[in-house]
Amino acid sequence: MMFEDGRSKRVVFIAHCFLNQNSISDGTAVYPAAFKEMSEILLNADIGIVQMPCPELCCLGLDRGNIYGADMPVVAENTRIRTEMKKEIPNAQLEQLVDSVIYQILEYRKYGFEVAGIIGANRSPNCGVDTTSDNNAEVKGNGLFIEKISARLAEKNISIPMIGLKGTDNVSDKLRSLIKGV
Ligand code: SF4
Repeated sequence: MMFEDGRSKRVVFIAHCFLNQNSISDGTAVYPAAFKEMSEILLNADIGIVQMPCPELCCLGLDRGNIYGADMPVVAENTRIRTEMKKEIPNAQLEQLVDSVIYQILEYRKYGFEVAGIIGANRSPNCGVDTTSDNNAEVKGNGLFIEKISARLAEKNISIPMIGLKGTDNVSDKLRSLIKGV
């Protein structure tokens, strides 16, 4: 048996900005660096935190291609970002990021690790799970990144619980139900 060492063999995959608020679109950071409560709950449960890439930073840049983004209502700027991400080059880059996330999930599962969940960021045009942004509003549905990840997992008949969080949520309730027994 491999990997029978000190590791817990449990991981979660989380949206990049939960651990690094410096990546988020201008005007939307709620913490200086990280969602500390989230990281504390996961670390105290001995669950490894896999930080997924930030699709918008990687595909559109830190300013998302709009230096006036912070002057717009968040859902309007998010809708613009969604439109930009669907264009050919950003979409191809997004596919590569999805490849890398799926590859890591498959590797962990191949060796019997538990991928306990995927934690997205609601309202995000990319990382939303329950809600995303479109038509200048927060609407039900997945962001583009999560949608692609879900589709790939479904193709492979892999089921991993997904939850979406926001800075204003009761983070601990949602997280504890995901990682039961903690
Ligand atoms: S929600 Fe996703 S795309 Fe938006 S800042 Fe966070 S990691 Fe990046």
